Amino acid sequence: MSRKMRLEIVTPDRLEFSGDVESIIAPSVSGYIGILPGHMPLIARLAVGVLTVRAGSTRLSMAVSEGYMEVSPGKVIILAEAAEMPGEIDVERALAAKRRAEEVLATSKEHVLLARARASLQKAINRLKVAKYQDGSGEGSPVGSEKISGE
Ligand code: ATP
Repeated sequence: MSRKMRLEIVTPDRLEFSGDVESIIAPSVSGYIGILPGHMPLIARLAVGVLTVRAGSTRLSMAVSEGYMEVSPGKVIILAEAAEMPGEIDVERALAAKRRAEEVLATSKEHVLLARARASLQKAINRLKVAKYQDGSGEGSPVGSEKISGE
């Protein structure tokens, strides 16, 4: 059995990644899922979270914002609403999105607005985590450090 599988990460804008990889850890709605070559076929819904890919000695982390992952023999396709590599993340934009969401959560009583703000906050925090944003307080990342299974 091949020790690699083809991975394609597609967003509405573009083909974000295409290459042969050895392992994938993806944020499904029911928790992080690890995929190795030879994994059984599967379709999983993805949540907002960190996608981690290993190819040789390279480890790639990306922020993904919901979508689907299809695992088939030798190939994994991830269709994500948004996906960004660390270097693509605009930290100021994510901080602004975080502040806007926190403001709504602190002041609004509208269920729809609150739900949207919670989703925005989650995406902003996830982007800051992938960008390894530190707030300079000496407390480490303001978004906490999540242990990704398999590490
Ligand atoms: P914002 O409120 O800043 O627009 P958002 O969470 O509403 O953020 P999305 O709807 O998740 O944004 O994404 C829309 C597009 O903008 C996607 O292509 C996504 O990759 C990109 N994007 C959003 N936030 C950032 C960011 N902080 N840095 C880089 N790209 C971003």
